[in-house]
Amino acid sequence: MKKPAVQPNHDPREVLDFGLGTARALEPSPDFLAAAAALGVEFEPGDVDRLGRYLGMLLAANEKANLTSITDAGEAWTKHILDSLTLLAVLAELPAGARVIDVGTGGGVPGVPLAIVMPHLSFTLLEATGKKVEFLRQAAAMLGLGNVEVVQGRAERLGQDRGERGGQGREGGHRERYDAVIARAVGPLNVLAELTVPLAKAPAADRPSGVIALIKGQKAADEVVSAAEALRQVRARHEATLDTPTGRIVVLTKDAPTPRTYPRADGEPKRSPLGGALRRGGDAEPEA
Ligand code: SAH
Repeated sequence: MKKPAVQPNHDPREVLDFGLGTARALEPSPDFLAAAAALGVEFEPGDVDRLGRYLGMLLAANEKANLTSITDAGEAWTKHILDSLTLLAVLAELPAGARVIDVGTGGGVPGVPLAIVMPHLSFTLLEATGKKVEFLRQAAAMLGLGNVEVVQGRAERLGQDRGERGGQGREGGHRERYDAVIARAVGPLNVLAELTVPLAKAPAADRPSGVIALIKGQKAADEVVSAAEALRQVRARHEATLDTPTGRIVVLTKDAPTPRTYPRADGEPKRSPLGGALRRGGDAEPEA
């Protein structure tokens, strides 16, 4: 029989065996521990062990779900764990119970390492691809991460999900519900702005807006310039670009609620970025 040109998402009734039960925990490299200390990270007992167990599972499951191109353990501590933890600087002030969403989390970066070291915050991991979602659900259960919810879906849909009207106003939903929206390697800033900003809380009389913190590379400054029109349209403001040991973090806030027209339909933000296409050489990343 001929293979279909487009592989269907896996059958949800089939339990994918990623071999997580036998995956070995990775030992942190001395470089990682020194870099984390320099970053000011203070691990609680058990944190480093759980980070190592997560990395072990990520690399073990990689062959089945194409979760990461990084297969070297030492490199994984820096490029996945340390890079994720650079966001601690932005999330540190959030109160207990604050809600954070990681858009396009893939194998769980940066959301899983942050959920391990910030158990007082509530993390939603959003991912479009079924296999990656299945890995995340299994890994979160094995790590006992009670503060993690994994959602399969697209940011375009969640960004329009206002929940249901109930006695106390709207309940549930994802649009403008998050205290922080984070992402790494999901696309250039003019695309990413449309996917992330609608999920962040709009400012109100009694609270500031949600914060949007995006892990970016060396081209961060160029991307901020190219995304000026996109940011204006979704009502976001560039607040800061932070230099970190592994790259840059672009921090956005909101001046007002995002207009109801954004985000547009699935795929539209990437196909036709707000403010025109990013010029060549931008920090574009793969998309589902
Ligand atoms: N953040 C991870 C993965 C980056 S790859 C890391 O840094 O390693 C980009 C991921 O985003 C892919 O897994 C892709 O499936 C997902 N993705 C891309 N566009 C998306 C969208 N519109 N909604 C939800 N997930 C998306």
